[in-house]
Amino acid sequence: MQDIARFLSGFRTFQKQYFCEEKEYFARLRNRQNPKALVVACCDSRVDPALLMGCEPGDIFVVRNVANLVPPYDATNGLHGVSAALEYGVRHLGVEHIIVLGHSSCGGIEALLQSGGGELGEFIGPWVGIAREAVEEIQDGFQGKPEPVRRRGCEMAAILVSIGNLLTFPWIRERIEASAMYIHGWYFDMATGELSSYLSETGTFEVLVGRCLR
Ligand SMILES: [Zn+2]
Repeated sequence: MQDIARFLSGFRTFQKQYFCEEKEYFARLRNRQNPKALVVACCDSRVDPALLMGCEPGDIFVVRNVANLVPPYDATNGLHGVSAALEYGVRHLGVEHIIVLGHSSCGGIEALLQSGGGELGEFIGPWVGIAREAVEEIQDGFQGKPEPVRRRGCEMAAILVSIGNLLTFPWIRERIEASAMYIHGWYFDMATGELSSYLSETGTFEVLVGRCLR
């Protein structure tokens, strides 16, 4: 129960900050939200996008799932949680940016590398399978490279799979082609603290925010 007490204490701090000390701020948000970005992030407890990017309530519309994956557009019957969130963020809230935020030491990608995901459960395998083909290509292409390099390559490849799948949604592609919305592929390295971004011009991830100098 200690953890729950800590969470409640955290909520009291939030309540004090936003409801007691900055009444107007939250009053503006009460009836509507106007986030500028939609973030597709991993469920991993260490990579909370709002925390990492210093966001306030209302700043980002967040979709989190195992390995920050976006499934391809599929209009057939099904329970499409990620697609529903994309639809709401893009078509109803009109976000200007979609950020796919991947990270190092991703358990979802690890599951795919170790066992194809299947051994971890009936849902994880098929889900991380969204990135299977891309990850296998990296594994083949990076043969002989050290394991951390291969793993990093696979984590980055999964980000590119998500970006590719985002473009299969007609109302996302339309906006990107009209330069009305932008997609970013970011990678947070937990070992170095660096944030990198995918550059389509070079086909590589380049450092956006370097490591701390001290
Ligand atoms: Zn992850």
